[in-house]
Amino acid sequence: MSVLLTLCLTIVSGAQVLGVEDFTMEGPLGSAGATIEAVGTNHFKVTLGHAPEKPTWSNKVQFTILQNAKGNDLTLDVSFPVGGSYEFNEYFYSYSYDGEEWHPVQWEKGRKLSKTDDRLVFPTFTEDTVYVGHQVPFSYEDFLRYKAQWEAHPDVKAVKLGTSLGGRDIWRLEVTGSKSETPPAKRWVHHVSNQHPGEFNSHWRIVGLMEWLLSDEGAGCRDRMIFHVIPFMSPDAPSNGWYRVNQQGIDMNRSYFEGGADKAKQAHEAYIVQSDLERLMASEAPVTTIWSMHTWGGNVEPLVRPGPEFGTTVGTVEDFEAILHGLDPTGLVIPLKARSNEPNGTYWSGGPHKQFGISGFLCEGAGALYTKEENVESGRILARGLAAFYQGTRP
Ligand SMILES: [Zn+2]
Repeated sequence: MSVLLTLCLTIVSGAQVLGVEDFTMEGPLGSAGATIEAVGTNHFKVTLGHAPEKPTWSNKVQFTILQNAKGNDLTLDVSFPVGGSYEFNEYFYSYSYDGEEWHPVQWEKGRKLSKTDDRLVFPTFTEDTVYVGHQVPFSYEDFLRYKAQWEAHPDVKAVKLGTSLGGRDIWRLEVTGSKSETPPAKRWVHHVSNQHPGEFNSHWRIVGLMEWLLSDEGAGCRDRMIFHVIPFMSPDAPSNGWYRVNQQGIDMNRSYFEGGADKAKQAHEAYIVQSDLERLMASEAPVTTIWSMHTWGGNVEPLVRPGPEFGTTVGTVEDFEAILHGLDPTGLVIPLKARSNEPNGTYWSGGPHKQFGISGFLCEGAGALYTKEENVESGRILARGLAAFYQGTRP
């Protein structure tokens, strides 16, 4: 838009309309390579960049309106002319004035109608600063704020596993009763992590799990279990809008090496986390279940490759499903199912199942959970379910 036209529109409306200079595609929620141009009054076009080494994988459209949003609405045409896989408009997005309270916004077309062009229409903004991101956004900085809160709890220990290629620390949070009389070797051990860094609803599921574990209701569970929680395996992604990859452009849920961690060949951050898992497996308290947290369409969808404890020292998959069903009156989690096909050894559920024989959970879904609260609640349900299904102590 020309300066003169902008000036005229400003005078006609009596309010300052949004300009390209009000937007930034950088920050905790960013979109690497995206460009923005004005096409009308409060109407802009964003052309997206792509993931490293993946020219047909678009980055997500994430940005901040730094100022001047109040009183303006916004129509955003988003384009990824190349098209390809993992479309930018597969899931809803959200906007927020404070980075805390998020409001969903839906695509006009969706990926079935167009893989290359779509539109988001935002209502008239009521504050000057606006954050926009994928699903219910969860940045690395959000994680650090939660980590600071959780670490204040005497039953949480933060273990730094290493540093990402972008220089961000990768953390494992170890949650277990610090005053418990149950020896570590007798505690059930659950390992929970996120591989695809743009699947933000799965991060909120992890927040819910942590919140329940650290609640008074979770005290008994903490005393007889250990949870190892890795909320970000690819922490460089949110500021770049990367959906599935690390800086090397490697799909992080195709990054497990079932034959053993390999520093030379493996994705940098995956090697760090798998080596740590291998150390845990060799310890006196090896992992019982591994949870790989993801999203796809619909409600939360857990799938399990059962380990040896199913039907022997604990109940069956059907028993676990009955417990989850009883904890989920609003139906956020669809019935737990066992998988019987050959596990893919590069997934973070199938890989550890093949390498160690442990129970591997692939937890998908939640693309239809449009609020932070629902996603957090789904994590509480899973944590309560684990506490109820894995009774007593490990034999
Ligand atoms: Zn995923």
